Amino acid sequence: MLSKGYKADMANNEFKYQVYKTDEQWKAELSEFEYHVLRMAGTERAYTGELLKEEREGSYHCRGCDAFLFVAETKFDSHCGWPSFYKPQDNDAIQYIEDKAHGMTRTEVRCSNCESHLGHVFDDAPQTPTGDRYCINSVSIIFKPKAE
Ligand SMILES: [Zn+2]
Repeated sequence: MLSKGYKADMANNEFKYQVYKTDEQWKAELSEFEYHVLRMAGTERAYTGELLKEEREGSYHCRGCDAFLFVAETKFDSHCGWPSFYKPQDNDAIQYIEDKAHGMTRTEVRCSNCESHLGHVFDDAPQTPTGDRYCINSVSIIFKPKAE
């Protein structure tokens, strides 16, 4: 199911994505679950993501287009059940969309390069340098360990 924010954005032609793929292409490239999260703004179950405990140095990239999104140094343990970062590697890497699904107003974050859904951002992390918590689905991102 698409959130209202997603539909509103689809009607807005202002935003231009570098990477455009048809639904058929996305379905061919992604697993069923990846498609559900990245393209239908789904959410993986808390504490199930493979990158939750990842603590190595490196970088995190978009599953949909490989865009560089987060550096490992900004990842922190928020105890929320999803990989959490306190800031993106570059503000332009992320697109912010108001999400009013489920009776809440939240800020959805997507890859600004290919429009894939990543997760949501919350300002409830006072223990971090920014106070922000980018709550990201493991399935939306790929971890690349720093080369030795
Ligand atoms: Zn992307």
